[in-house]
Amino acid sequence: MNRRAWHPVGLLLVLALWLSTLGNLPLWRALWDLTETHSLRTVLGLFGFGLIVLAATTMLLSLLVWPRWRKPLGVLLLLVAAANSYFMHTYGIVIDPSMMANTVQTDVREVRDLLSWSLLAVLALGVVLPGWWWWRQPVQQLPLRRLAGRQMGLAGLALLIMLAAVWVSFQDLASTMRNQKSLRYMLNPFNTLYASTRLLVGQTAQASLTLQPVAEDAALARASGAGQAAPLIVLVVGETVRAANFGLAGYARDTTPQLRQLQGRGELAYFAQVTSCGTNTQVSVPCMFSHLGREAYSKNTTPYENLLDVLQRAGLQVLWLDNQSGCKGVCDRVPNASTRELKDPTFCPDGECFDEIMLRVLPERLTQLEKAAGSASAGTVVVLHQMGNHGPAYYKRTPTEMKVYQPECRSNVLQDCPAQEIVNAYDNAVRYTDHLLGQTVRWLQAQPRPTALLYVSDHGESLGEKGLYLHGMPYMMAPQEQTHVPMALWLSKPMQSRLGWDGTCWQKKVAEPVSHDHYFHSVLTLAQVSTRWHKPERDVFAACPARPS
Ligand SMILES: [Zn+2]
Repeated sequence: MNRRAWHPVGLLLVLALWLSTLGNLPLWRALWDLTETHSLRTVLGLFGFGLIVLAATTMLLSLLVWPRWRKPLGVLLLLVAAANSYFMHTYGIVIDPSMMANTVQTDVREVRDLLSWSLLAVLALGVVLPGWWWWRQPVQQLPLRRLAGRQMGLAGLALLIMLAAVWVSFQDLASTMRNQKSLRYMLNPFNTLYASTRLLVGQTAQASLTLQPVAEDAALARASGAGQAAPLIVLVVGETVRAANFGLAGYARDTTPQLRQLQGRGELAYFAQVTSCGTNTQVSVPCMFSHLGREAYSKNTTPYENLLDVLQRAGLQVLWLDNQSGCKGVCDRVPNASTRELKDPTFCPDGECFDEIMLRVLPERLTQLEKAAGSASAGTVVVLHQMGNHGPAYYKRTPTEMKVYQPECRSNVLQDCPAQEIVNAYDNAVRYTDHLLGQTVRWLQAQPRPTALLYVSDHGESLGEKGLYLHGMPYMMAPQEQTHVPMALWLSKPMQSRLGWDGTCWQKKVAEPVSHDHYFHSVLTLAQVSTRWHKPERDVFAACPARPS
């Protein structure tokens, strides 16, 4: 080889320079957009911030990059920076621990929904080309002690430069960072490093703890007497439906005609001011089923039993049907089944199953479950976990013949579509959820037993407002579109008389602000389970007669 070999420190600096500039384009763009006047002062400020990022990256690389894994680690860092940049730019997301948790738990199909030509182009330019170059560079072999001395020296120097630059630009920097907390999660590759460490530490800590029991005193407040049919409650956990596009919430389009009909007949209540616990499935779903409520859940590291464990302990049969990527641990200790992989020509035409597949399998599953329980069955709670409005490929969530709003955005790069086409595809999916709920109610009405349905979405969605798409913004800065969700309740006549409710006892809560915090306690009341753990202040049925105390 007659090319001159790189000094290891020199090559490391080249990588640091790439990562802190091209590897962080979304961050630089966000900072540039943030500064109102592009005066000399702001340009100098940006330059100062650039110096800090370069110094920090250099320091990180001096500590991480050693001969044995220099080449693969470099390529991995290029990949992290390029992929993060693409998703941040395309969907306006940031890389924080809960987004990381989402990524880790995602499956092949969800990844396929995100693939696009522009992603391939970004990976080619940001990973393949520079990675190929990086891999081929000859590097001088230094004795390890000497190399360690050089790299530690470089790390020290970088630290000094970083401190000096922070010192000089502290004022501007501190206020920008305070006002724009999301910027912290935009810095590649530190965001990924921080989020994965947090996730790993959290998971190890959780794994070492034993599951804590919840409501060990749970019991049915009223057992079904002999000859009385055991009640059936269906809890529909919606996906990514925001209240803003829900017909019953006053949306200009009637995206919920079937629910509206039920409401018109006085059979259905719509809760107008419900906020979600999180901005993604990973947080919201376990949080809803937890007794803790958002505030405590967000700080909690102890694994607790959840609502389903409590219902089961009280003597009810519980079944979780999942048409999405799993129940996030909620259904671990109750009978459950995934419907995503089923082969059904009607409901799964292209290998992906529409949510109605759950209704298709429900009767048979229910019979199996209740047969096994025999006469001991005091009632059943079924959870239907929807695919709902899972993005970005909203158009895949609705069967062709049910697409009312046209034309639809048929790309998963949402920015490529006119805003109206994104909304059309999204609204079609909302309407399909309305159809699913209508079908479920019709089926429940036909059952010779008291029945109920409670629907609530797990979180909302941004459809381009404020330049944001999808969901998952850290809660404290999440826009309303991502946290205001629809919730609806339907009770059959036999259920109303069983409960002794006249349909007005929850009427006040319909207009009041409530949240996922109310889910655990309200479902307990609906299922007539009593426990000391029940909190009336978090129960939308608190004013209803004969509630369990
Ligand atoms: Zn979700």
